[in-house]
Amino acid sequence: MTHSSTPGIELANGSRIAVIGGGPAGSFFSYYALEYARVFGLSIELDIFEAKDFTRVGASGCNQCGGIISESLVQDLATDGLVIPSDIIQRKINTYTMHTEQGASVIHIPSNEHRIASVFRGCGPRGCLDKNVKGFDKYLLGLCHKKGARIIHKKVSQMELTDDGILVGHSKADVTKYDLVVGAVGLNKKSLNLFKNICPAYVKPKVTRTYISEFMMKPADIKESFGNSMHVFLLNIPRITFGALIPKENYVTLVLLGQDINKDVVQTFITSNQVRACFPEDFPVERTMPCQCYPFINIRAGDHAYADRVVMIGDSASSKLYKNGIGAAFITGKAAASTVIFEGISESHFKNYYAPICRDMDRDNQVGKLIFHVTKRIQKSPVLKRGILSLIEREQADSHSAFRMSSALWDTFTGSAGYRNILRRFLHPALLGGLLNSAVISSLPSFKSHDYEK
Ligand SMILES: Cc1cc2nc3c(=O)[nH]c(=O)nc-3n(C[C@H](O)[C@H](O)[C@H](O)COP(=O)(O)OP(=O)(O)OC[C@H]3O[C@@H](n4cnc5c(N)ncnc54)[C@H](O)[C@@H]3O)c2cc1C
Repeated sequence: MTHSSTPGIELANGSRIAVIGGGPAGSFFSYYALEYARVFGLSIELDIFEAKDFTRVGASGCNQCGGIISESLVQDLATDGLVIPSDIIQRKINTYTMHTEQGASVIHIPSNEHRIASVFRGCGPRGCLDKNVKGFDKYLLGLCHKKGARIIHKKVSQMELTDDGILVGHSKADVTKYDLVVGAVGLNKKSLNLFKNICPAYVKPKVTRTYISEFMMKPADIKESFGNSMHVFLLNIPRITFGALIPKENYVTLVLLGQDINKDVVQTFITSNQVRACFPEDFPVERTMPCQCYPFINIRAGDHAYADRVVMIGDSASSKLYKNGIGAAFITGKAAASTVIFEGISESHFKNYYAPICRDMDRDNQVGKLIFHVTKRIQKSPVLKRGILSLIEREQADSHSAFRMSSALWDTFTGSAGYRNILRRFLHPALLGGLLNSAVISSLPSFKSHDYEK
């Protein structure tokens, strides 16, 4: 089947948009499309189809995620007048604690202005008794509703191209014609397959399995054991690229990223001395968690994520490798919104105005892959890990330090800067010289680290 682009198609007064998926990408697109349309004097109708009910606890109300809102996203939202309400925020994170087999170091926030928030995407884990939990995805959908979006809590199961629009339906009896369809279905395989009909050149993202679980704890114990610090682990455990414990109000979220994480990998991680030592001594970390999942994450972007009257955004198109996926949903959602309102909705409009944004993110991810490759090497090297810890400690103890290692690591963990920017800073001669120096000094027999390995 050939697919030719129609350069002239644009939205007009009365045009209808269907957004399939009300996660962050769908919500950010909808919010900005409605805002830009208002500014542009364009009257559109926008329906968001969302299969989940974000007021429910557990999997049926949750888009599985660590729930870290990066400081760059917090700032981008604030610039547009959107301040995440305090009742959505589970905890404000102001330090990172990096754990290795050689010891641990605390990295403080580089500037007091920066804020990272931990949130729940839904209304809390399965078994959550706290009825006051308010999730991030519901908050975003609420913003869209206030802007005029209609939220339809149905799962879209069919889409069909016609001469002048796209038919979208959640049942045979209920089909509506739209001028534009926005695909924001995350990495849901079945939903992505629906787009074959209407976006024939689209290639789905490549994914791998990750792991998330929630440890329920008393708030006082969380405060004492974790504080407001996100704990990240650089351990020599095969297949784990990144492990983190993220404190919330009544829970601590465990996130493992890497290659095809499974039960055995999880077990090795949670029973390691370094992870065990983060919890109170009598806390049963090995007890089966009531809420755990193995969601997919993007490791390669989708391709050709657009066609006449169709654009894919968020995880369904391009994301940031291993970090700040919500920030990436914001970037792609907003870019797609500006394209459809100010430019047009044909394939060539998306190619010229939307695709470059995805391409830029994909190029940055290539550099990210290199950084994670090097990280894997570092995970296996006690000398380098000792050197990094010692350099961080020196920087953190000296208020006049340039904080080169601390701030590069901070941005790697938080997702607040692009990978190209981070790589440039890691390659700075002063940082490399400092690391070499620290590695040599910390390898001397006289060097004392606070080793808690034994
Ligand atoms: C282990 C792990 C940890 C992560 N931690 C973080 C983190 O701490 N911070 C961060 O920024 N990012 C994190 N991410 C990434 C982040 O979760 C995603 O990048 C982000 O959720 C993408 O948003 P989205 O809207 O594109 O997709 P999703 O959040 O997946 O939303 C898609 C929505 O579409 C709906 N949907 C699907 N099919 C249909 C259909 N047919 N009809 C109607 N609705 C449909 C779904 O119900 C869902 O609500 C993490 C990811 C993983 C796997």
